[in-house]
Amino acid sequence: MQALIYNGPGKKNLEDRPKPTLQAPTDAVVRITKTTICGTDLHILKGDVPTCAAGTVLGHEGVGIVDAVGAGVTTFKPGDRVLISCISACGRCDYCRKGMYSHCTTGGWILGNRIDGTQAEFVRIPYADTSLYPIPAGADEEALVMLSDILPTGFECGVLNGKVQVGGSVAIVGSGPIGLAALLTAQFHSPSQIIMIDLDNNRLAVSQRFGATEIVNSSDGKAAERVMALTGGRGVDTAIEAVGIPATFELCQDIVAPGGTIANVGVHGVKVDLHLERLWSHNVTITTRLVDTVTIPMLLKTVQSKRIDAGQLITHRFRLDQILQAYETFGKASSTKALKVMIEA
Ligand SMILES: [Zn+2]
Ligand SMILES: [Zn+2]
Repeated sequence: MQALIYNGPGKKNLEDRPKPTLQAPTDAVVRITKTTICGTDLHILKGDVPTCAAGTVLGHEGVGIVDAVGAGVTTFKPGDRVLISCISACGRCDYCRKGMYSHCTTGGWILGNRIDGTQAEFVRIPYADTSLYPIPAGADEEALVMLSDILPTGFECGVLNGKVQVGGSVAIVGSGPIGLAALLTAQFHSPSQIIMIDLDNNRLAVSQRFGATEIVNSSDGKAAERVMALTGGRGVDTAIEAVGIPATFELCQDIVAPGGTIANVGVHGVKVDLHLERLWSHNVTITTRLVDTVTIPMLLKTVQSKRIDAGQLITHRFRLDQILQAYETFGKASSTKALKVMIEA
């Protein structure tokens, strides 16, 4: 089968690989029908993710059709259409029993990281019963690919952790796919203001179409002043950090209102300053989280009922044999205006 292989920092290739086989009774093999590329895949290619060894098939998002199941799999059978969670969960360890699947002692984020992932014709899914979700008949499968990772990440790490409230004010720093996923799902809670902040005017224009009430281009270094002016000098109740660099986390500290919450979503590679000399008296909460994907069943219903239009995040379409071109397009998002690229296997 064809698979996109990580060959060490800066190196990737579309290669021929043997089809994966069942290794444990709880495994399933899924034939991928649609997958996508994540910003995290670009981090791996930069060499930022040491757990991902050279030779690994990349990808942790996708939908497909069950090809084979182990003897211990009871929920799924060959032929079933399934949504793949980016998080594999045994369902039994202490963390899984708490719903903290991301910290599953033998699972968590392993797909396309510690084990072969979804950018291939077939993928082996460990703990299939608790890591796959059935796709309802007639569902828009392209839209459902957004449920493997980005919508639950935006919702769980940004909106839920950030305690977005009815009538509250929200700023989302970063208007990439994850920031936009937080923007879409924040609207479940009807905040009065959602201010989107980014350096890229195209992404800001997209966020206005997706429901932002105000947009701020932060390239002049005056984003904090703009946000304070837009919130009557108070700042926002929820500041969602969806980039993962020191400057954007600092901006969140500058714009959070007393009593507010900073919800970190971004993947940070270097340390950031914490301004306790200012924030110690501001009753501020700072949250961190890895996505657990516990909200996939709920989000699936909202996509099915058209309460949110997840498909609008898809900007480009490729076949699996064009995946190198898809990486090229996704990696140059500022010139190609790419958000999520859909790859048909
Ligand atoms: Zn991802
Ligand atoms: Zn577990």
